Amino acid sequence: MTRGTFAVPNHARPAWDELHARILATGPTPCAGPDRNDWLGTAQQQDRAARACFDCPVLEACTRYAITADEREGIWGGMTSAERKEWAA
Ligand code: SF4
Repeated sequence: MTRGTFAVPNHARPAWDELHARILATGPTPCAGPDRNDWLGTAQQQDRAARACFDCPVLEACTRYAITADEREGIWGGMTSAERKEWAA
């Protein structure tokens, strides 16, 4: 997920840098498109966002970053925060 301004935890910086490099290599991701508000929106919007993530070329790097950073809001890697926690356990 791309956002305007947020802090990347220091321990997650390598994962963030990898994600950023992959986005630069592949081009815009679905969450940078016209429906970008879905990634932090209502449950219905987030369901739609999560489905869009599965067409994203950086899905794996995004998931790795979000789990490493323990992102608590929104859809990252096609998953909610609760789903990421469960997946990482
Ligand atoms: S996997 Fe989803 S949240 Fe992550 S960059 Fe791609 S579209 Fe955005």
